[in-house]
Amino acid sequence: MKIWLDGELQDAGEARVSVFDHGLTVGDGVFETVKAERGRAFALTRHLERLATSARGLGLPAPDLDEVRRGCTAVLDANPMPLGRLRITYTGGLSPLGSDRGEAGPTLVVAASEAARRPDTTAAVTVPWTRNERGALAGLKTTSYGENVVALARARERGASEALFANTVGALCEGTGSNVFVVLDGELHTPPLASGCLAGITRALTVAWAGAKETDLPWDVLESAEEIFLTSTLRDVQAVTRIDDRQLADAPGPVTAEAMRIFDREAAADFDPR
Ligand code: PLP
Repeated sequence: MKIWLDGELQDAGEARVSVFDHGLTVGDGVFETVKAERGRAFALTRHLERLATSARGLGLPAPDLDEVRRGCTAVLDANPMPLGRLRITYTGGLSPLGSDRGEAGPTLVVAASEAARRPDTTAAVTVPWTRNERGALAGLKTTSYGENVVALARARERGASEALFANTVGALCEGTGSNVFVVLDGELHTPPLASGCLAGITRALTVAWAGAKETDLPWDVLESAEEIFLTSTLRDVQAVTRIDDRQLADAPGPVTAEAMRIFDREAAADFDPR
């Protein structure tokens, strides 16, 4: 496996990042997961823009997006796979313990791994912890993902693949690595970005293509919604069959199935042409 580090391709087993890297010591970094099919990245420009937005939010120097793109292309070319994911990690870089970040400049790593085609349906749980929609990290894709790790472990203990958070005012927000959509009276809704959720790329495309409304949704909407689905880079549009103990019979329901069809059709045009 070849990865991109220090501006060049390197063997993953040989590549070295300092133990003093701020990304490792304090989680001072941002990342992107990009889907790739047969060497072509999906929605890469949107991912690069979000990487830059997250870096700005964290006060990191602006990433050189041309270099990130070069790294993505090089890694995809060096690791051929039918379906994969690119992982772009950009951190505050080398810093002696106890001092401020970045004396040797930021660290950029691009790696790839094989991905499995996602199942069309999944189970989800709710967790009692909240997303802080007014927090400094709200809406940023940072490497400080500890809360998501804890919540996802809770989901797995209960035989589910995703955990959903409310925000601090008790509104539906998002999952550990996905956005959430609900169907109410036959209409598709998703929480607005002000809820504190990540500006998911799959979410934005689903809003545009399937015509979902961005609506403040109370947490208990999960008890009454006719249909629920998740969106993310690796799930695409994925129907929820069970939320906690509530079964959603016949998932994917008609609105979700239509959103899946539209997404698959439109997404085919959004792979990097290369
Ligand atoms: N919310 C969080 C917290 C995430 O980490 C992700 C995954 O990247 C998403 C939502 C979905 O975003 P996207 O569709 O861009 O993968």
